[in-house]
Amino acid sequence: AGPLTWLEPAVDTDVADSLSTQFLDRFGDLPDGVWAAPGRVNLVGEHTDYNGGYALPLALPHRTYAAVRRRDDGLLRVASLQAPHGWEGPVTTVRQGSPDGWAAYVAGVASVLAERAGAAEVGMDVLVDGHVPLGAGLSSSAALSCSAGLALRDLVPQLDGLSEAELVGVCVRAENEVAGAATGGMDQTVSLRAVDEHLLLLDARDRSVVPVAWTLPDHELLVVDTRVHHALGDGQYERRRRTCEEAAAALGVGSLRELDPEVLDRDWERPAGPARVLHGIPDALPRVRHVLTENERVLDLVAALREQDVARVGSLMTASHASLRDDYEVSCPELDLTVEAALGAGAPGARMTGGGFGGSAVVLVARTEVEQVAESVAQAFAREGLDAPAFLHAVPGPPAHRVR
Ligand code: ADP
Ligand code: MG
Repeated sequence: AGPLTWLEPAVDTDVADSLSTQFLDRFGDLPDGVWAAPGRVNLVGEHTDYNGGYALPLALPHRTYAAVRRRDDGLLRVASLQAPHGWEGPVTTVRQGSPDGWAAYVAGVASVLAERAGAAEVGMDVLVDGHVPLGAGLSSSAALSCSAGLALRDLVPQLDGLSEAELVGVCVRAENEVAGAATGGMDQTVSLRAVDEHLLLLDARDRSVVPVAWTLPDHELLVVDTRVHHALGDGQYERRRRTCEEAAAALGVGSLRELDPEVLDRDWERPAGPARVLHGIPDALPRVRHVLTENERVLDLVAALREQDVARVGSLMTASHASLRDDYEVSCPELDLTVEAALGAGAPGARMTGGGFGGSAVVLVARTEVEQVAESVAQAFAREGLDAPAFLHAVPGPPAHRVR
């Protein structure tokens, strides 16, 4: 394998300078300001948010930047340095599928906020520069919608006082209703509500967040972007979601979170027990088992962090991967290979992160061994004839903020 590819975060003020200049070239005026919103990596708690459960993500120092100038004529003009085509149209024409493509994330947020403000004249010119790798399972999509959402919140007087927590709901709605992306809310929550230098324990049932300190000073989190995306995964997120909803309904609960995890070892197989009830729903049994065990792993991992128990943090991560691979069936050969290679090189724990079927893995690794573990993963990819993966240092950063 050749030299390793590291994706470094940008410096806020550098991006703001260059984006402002390019904004001027494109739109003929300087922006009112520049806003940044981070991507995220989830340490544990995957496919739990839409089941009312727990997750433990952190905001990456890799952010998406939006230079924005408010307009009061209801027109949206959006462009991105990462996309060849922009979009232009009145905010009142925005709906599911219009615009289609990437601009839906920005136009969708503007449309939901215009409705919220009760003002059809809400509009803006936006130029985006994304430093979160796109489609890598690190939530460039939420970084995009949250950067635009925060900008409008700060610029439109009628939106004064809208909290970050409320903005999460706005961005989720925009993605669901305009971009047509089913999203459980973890990504937007951490992008808008992260606490610098902390993980965020998220409870999707009441949308509460608790900052969790990183207590392992000799270890860091290494993200491996496999740079693959399997088309096979398209539609699988919705399928998993539907199976969980059907299972919850069959079990008579509003969400799987309401099930006592002890049913797994106590009465699982008893007559009329959960296993029997779920028998008629294809794959429901292993899917429910993943969700219940994953919720427990989140709380166990938080406890292990508090006790500075490196080995336990690692083994919970690896157990999460096995559950996603075997019970939830959302992993893929490249993610399994990454986990295997990282563990083989001595990492205490590793797992896929994000929705699956490609994207990224997160590895717990001793600071002194980061390069060596990354090298081992890159070599494993080369041996299998795969394109080289990219690497990121997942140092927990601040939430979405105004840069200037
Ligand atoms: P992830 O959120 O894990 O990166 P998604 O498929 O959910 O993957 O979101 C990726 C999509 O978000 C892209 O295909 C594009 O539509 C949009 N997107 C994200 N960042 C940008 C950007 N900087 N410029 C244009 N589109 C972007
Ligand atoms: Mg996304």
